[in-house]
Amino acid sequence: MKQGSRYEWGEGVYTLLSWFKKERVKNARVLVAGAGALGNEVVKNLALFGVGHIYVVDFDEIEITNLTRSVLFREQDAFNHEFKAEVVARRAMEINPQIHVVPIVGNLFSEVGFGIYRMVDVVIGCLDSRIARYLLNRLSMRAGKTWIDGSIENLTGAVRVYTPGLSCYECGLSREEFNIIMLRTGCADVVRSQASAGRVATTPISASIIGAMQVQEAMKIIHLDDESGNGQFKTLQGKMLRYEGLTNTTSIYRFASWKKNCPAHERWDQIVNASELSATHTVKQTIKELKQLLGVSALEINMRNNKFIDKIISDKPEKEFQVMLPESKLDRHISNDPELKKLSYRTLFHKSFFENIDDDFPYMDLTLEQIGIPPFDVIQVSTEKGQFYVELGADAPLYM
Ligand SMILES: [Zn+2]
Repeated sequence: MKQGSRYEWGEGVYTLLSWFKKERVKNARVLVAGAGALGNEVVKNLALFGVGHIYVVDFDEIEITNLTRSVLFREQDAFNHEFKAEVVARRAMEINPQIHVVPIVGNLFSEVGFGIYRMVDVVIGCLDSRIARYLLNRLSMRAGKTWIDGSIENLTGAVRVYTPGLSCYECGLSREEFNIIMLRTGCADVVRSQASAGRVATTPISASIIGAMQVQEAMKIIHLDDESGNGQFKTLQGKMLRYEGLTNTTSIYRFASWKKNCPAHERWDQIVNASELSATHTVKQTIKELKQLLGVSALEINMRNNKFIDKIISDKPEKEFQVMLPESKLDRHISNDPELKKLSYRTLFHKSFFENIDDDFPYMDLTLEQIGIPPFDVIQVSTEKGQFYVELGADAPLYM
């Protein structure tokens, strides 16, 4: 807590709403995926409410065009090429010095430790593409967490709340939407660019309205198992709220879709906490420690959300390039390398990659983070005794 903050945040709010529990909100943890127009509004509102722990994920830098609809960005941030997540975190803590906001500059699927998904009370999606929603849904379901999706386009917007066992984004996709997503995620050995696909025009008004509704829903989810809240509020779980700015109409639809055999429903709940393990450990160290911890003689670390690329091979001319990076960093690497960037417009790249790491892995001295496993992640380990999910517990203090 900063010096001079003698008052308790949010007194007014809590006397107005009887079901609001100050302690509960203070102790709450919320993951915000995306720090664009919606993400700005959402984090601002979470900060005003006094939500104690907020994690903001975004890999983008601020651009001058973001300023017209992002309340927390300033012109200077764009000139300084600052990352959205970092600026959002800083400004939110200026608004409310009693909260803690952790920025994560990276991809929400492969660069955010799964331990964070497990730790939060609710996830708020402030995303602008189907593929990102598909991935966020997978992770939230895997962690058993409700996620609140916001979408805005021109003067309209929508809020949808997905809760494990009740509603799932993937189950609600049409075959056509699903095929588009598969096309973009499925080609494992061909390099693709993920840049700015399907961005839509938005206004600061729809971002304010939808972002506010998302946070209101998050507050209810945080109080869901609190008895005093019973009967006092209705959530949007399994529903969609649609706002139409042109006509000032708001409608609520049932939106629950939960099918059998949907691969997104895979739940990781039997997790071994390895309080000594960290993403800063080398592969060699990790394999040794895991063998000890699990009492096995051989094992394989299965990278579920990322791959380690040691080289890429171009078609024309036929040439190999040493890369040594996680797949999640490959696009940026290619666009920063003049030769690769030029080639990428006219030739296909094929990747030489590793997604199962065992005693034969040739780069044993690299750290887990260097091969694409983020801090505080949960890794899937296959052994002769079966499969284990192991949390890199030594990284937890980074996010407390
Ligand atoms: Zn599903």
